[in-house]
Amino acid sequence: MRLPAGCRVSDAAGDPLAARVFSEPPHPYRSPFQRDRGRIIHARAFRRLAGKTQVFTHRYSDHFRSRLTHTMEVAQIARTIASALGLNEDLTEALALVHDIGHPPFGHAGERALDEALRAHGLRFDHNLHALRIVEYFEMHYAAFRGLNLTLAVREGIIKHSRDYSAAEHPELSKYFLDQRPPLEAQIIDLADEIAYLTADLDDGMEAEILNLDDIRRHVQLFERFFVPMDAEYPEAPAKLVFNEALKRVLNALVDDLIAETERQVKVIDAGTLEDIRNAPHRLAAFSPEIEMLRLEAKRYLYTHLYNCTELTHDHEEAALVIAELFEAWTRDPSLLPASYVARVSEEGASRVVADYIAGMTDNFILEQYKTFRHNS
Ligand code: MG
Repeated sequence: MRLPAGCRVSDAAGDPLAARVFSEPPHPYRSPFQRDRGRIIHARAFRRLAGKTQVFTHRYSDHFRSRLTHTMEVAQIARTIASALGLNEDLTEALALVHDIGHPPFGHAGERALDEALRAHGLRFDHNLHALRIVEYFEMHYAAFRGLNLTLAVREGIIKHSRDYSAAEHPELSKYFLDQRPPLEAQIIDLADEIAYLTADLDDGMEAEILNLDDIRRHVQLFERFFVPMDAEYPEAPAKLVFNEALKRVLNALVDDLIAETERQVKVIDAGTLEDIRNAPHRLAAFSPEIEMLRLEAKRYLYTHLYNCTELTHDHEEAALVIAELFEAWTRDPSLLPASYVARVSEEGASRVVADYIAGMTDNFILEQYKTFRHNS
């Protein structure tokens, strides 16, 4: 399974991808990416992921995924894939742990609301760019500089793990090799994310009794493929446990396929070095066409039956209302913001500063802010 060793990002402290903006002496026994993983786990924004909605808000259940536990599932899956392919596991894990750090409260409804609010001011909200602002600016741990001073490889991965950015639109990102593909360690993050949420959301959706087994079996072929043999093997077992057995096999099938297809694509172009990966005509980490089709079918099912279902409409509307009203009130009067944010308004404009403030909040914190705001107005 292992790819040529040259395709792996090097752990050497002197490697250009291990460079930091503020140079630091090498650590006696931790690699640059092990240090970055530690910095991410110790970040305040990382801890706040525990209070941010993934799909289900606080009113559902304490055992559904939060953004933090989702992040840990992505890290687990991504690290397995990196290990099987012989990629840099520490870099992969650091990238997985940081991949959702830029997400606002209230999941995708919150992200949509914040983006809409910014559009009215000619700006956009992009969670990858926000994640970069968090690790470069908002986190304050060191006396000598702001931010976490992460390696170039981790900062590049934060930007490019899920999409490409054009140099014309984003000249400020030019140091991140925008005309090239990211290393495979970054490419697999987005796909590990897809595997993690697709399987987790089927699980939480079932537990929430929004999805039901017959419906999933009818609409999600990839699930039905594994459910039928498990149902035959465990005729006496409770339905949810047979469901679990099938779902575990769905997850494993997606991981197996991603590993095999990525290996195949690397072979097709005979890539032997990181430069080959970077200069490939497209990203090489991928699912096979058959599994990709089944994955998209499952994803479409989740969109229509879970993400956009009527049971979650109330939460989505509440998210949109809370964010829109607070955004509007604070941009109108930025003096209501904490002093450290007020200080940035003249340079960056109230709308960006307010968006930064809101994006950092947990679900509970923004709801508290909203209560206070309603009480005073
Ligand atoms: Mg994610």
